Amino acid sequence: MEMQVVQRARENFLAGRSRPLEFRVQQLKSLQRMITDRQGEIATALKQDINRSQYDTPLLELIGLENEISLAVSKLAQWAAPRPVEKSLLTISDQVYIQPEPLGVVLIIGAWNYPWALTLQPLVGAIAAGNAAVVKPSELSEYSASLLKALLPRYLDQELYPVVCGGVSETQELLRQRFDHIFYTGNSTVGKLVMEAAARHLTPVTLELGGKSPCYIDKDVDLRVACRRITWGKFVNCGQTCIAPDYILCEPSIQNRVVEGIRQTLLEFYGPDPKSSPDYGRIINQRHFNHVMALLDGYTAALGGQSDSSQRYIAPTVVKDVPPHARLMQEEIFGPLLPIVTVSDIDDAIHFISEREKPLAIYVFSSNKKVIKRMLAETTSGGVTVNDVMMHYTLNSLPFGGVGQSGTGRYHGKHSFDQFSHHRACLVKSLGMERVNMPRYPPQNHQKARR
Ligand code: NAD
Repeated sequence: MEMQVVQRARENFLAGRSRPLEFRVQQLKSLQRMITDRQGEIATALKQDINRSQYDTPLLELIGLENEISLAVSKLAQWAAPRPVEKSLLTISDQVYIQPEPLGVVLIIGAWNYPWALTLQPLVGAIAAGNAAVVKPSELSEYSASLLKALLPRYLDQELYPVVCGGVSETQELLRQRFDHIFYTGNSTVGKLVMEAAARHLTPVTLELGGKSPCYIDKDVDLRVACRRITWGKFVNCGQTCIAPDYILCEPSIQNRVVEGIRQTLLEFYGPDPKSSPDYGRIINQRHFNHVMALLDGYTAALGGQSDSSQRYIAPTVVKDVPPHARLMQEEIFGPLLPIVTVSDIDDAIHFISEREKPLAIYVFSSNKKVIKRMLAETTSGGVTVNDVMMHYTLNSLPFGGVGQSGTGRYHGKHSFDQFSHHRACLVKSLGMERVNMPRYPPQNHQKARR
């Protein structure tokens, strides 16, 4: 079944159907129409999957997607045009340019936490670049996956952009097929399986992975503002965001004020009982619920800590004075638990971050320019936002992606187009001017001289 889908996509790609710019624009506009027409159904599916608030759906998934589509539609002719580059003396009268071309048939494997953005945003890039694409949504966000499977063929070409649903075995079957690029979003364990499967066909990959994104709060800061921004980024989508601040680093002298700032903000956001707030989400499934709760074992929460497994509810939770070797600090939390680790100063914070894997994002809050400058200069991460969290993701002028263990490759805006394109080196000469070429032909000069 999967084999036939891929085969059909390839035949249609080879027939050249996905290539004309007008066709790409028409498909992108149709995708835009799907989002506008079906916003209500999409929001309902997300409510069922993850208790996403109706208000958050456009804000967290659809507006960004619509921006990506309209940018691609308006810039496509420019992005896809051949780009003349510098010539050498020998090629001065030739054409020298870089021609972006589609790669072929790509596979997009999405994750469940933002099931629409994480499958359709790469798809926008794949269509814009002229590829065929097989879309595999996550089986864990099942309502979104089946809605996507029902909707996409009504708006997009079914042969070129098929949706394949299913779990591990269906994904593994897909991964045995040969693709021209695989774009995977999810955890690093599966990321390694994807890369292994891709290696068998020498298929290039983009891996959008996760990890622990640190958030350093300097003592020289407006704590009220910092805590509001951090609380939003950590607890939106119930902590299940790849670029959520995973943990806080701060000096012991401000720790209690940070906790107080978060407490006040939580009250503003979700009221005294977050469980009954329409704006507070749920954990995706029971297995993940148990996993997050196990991370809390042995700790007393400074804030929150309550849970209800029947609803997969975990209260927004803050834990103070977490030791660096604690399990909470060993793996990505991906839930509404916020550990605070104290550090003695900025040097200690930088050291703490640098001796761990390169994170997907780093956040630093400070009014002190020197602190900001040092954090930027002495650490690395996929992306960074200063004095806010997650907002670098929203700019399609910035490449989004990880580095090292947090991923490889990048997308958004033109970066998506480039990621799904081959940048072909083109030199077009004339048959004239043969004299210029003589020195490179044998016999070489000494022999030529002998003649
Ligand atoms: P998931 O379980 O939905 O898995 C992602 C995809 O992998 C799914 O389509 C699934 O079908 C497939 N899959 C699962 N097991 C497989 C297997 N054994 N073989 C082949 N395919 C398999 O999502 P997840 O991994 O739980 O997602 C959460 C992780 O994703 C977190 O680590 C998070 O940080 C990361 N993430 C990263 C980004 C990013 O943009 N960098 C975005 C969202 C999530």
